[in-house]
Amino acid sequence: MKKTIYCEECSGVIHNKEDLVVAQFRMDVIPFHEDCYARELKGPKAIYIRNKPINGVSGNFSTFMFFLLGLGILIFGVGDIKYFSIVTIIPIGIRLYSYIMFERHLD
Ligand SMILES: [Zn+2]
Repeated sequence: MKKTIYCEECSGVIHNKEDLVVAQFRMDVIPFHEDCYARELKGPKAIYIRNKPINGVSGNFSTFMFFLLGLGILIFGVGDIKYFSIVTIIPIGIRLYSYIMFERHLD
């Protein structure tokens, strides 16, 4: 089930996880080379790209924080506040999507 991942900026093949940066672009989630991502952030598309990658250490950390936050709201939230935990599922879902679509295909 290996899939070739192409960089959105240069259309080149991304060979390994270290070189992969997954970023949110408008409502989409797209893969870049690390260098291409840095270049994109300086280009005209930068206003649409979140300047925090979804994958990598910072992405994993914020996903973990959202997970704790969601869990906290679910456990300690009173009444309607519990429903806010649904909001924290969105970044967790995006993180999973990035993993399923791109990261698991790379070594
Ligand atoms: Zn590239």
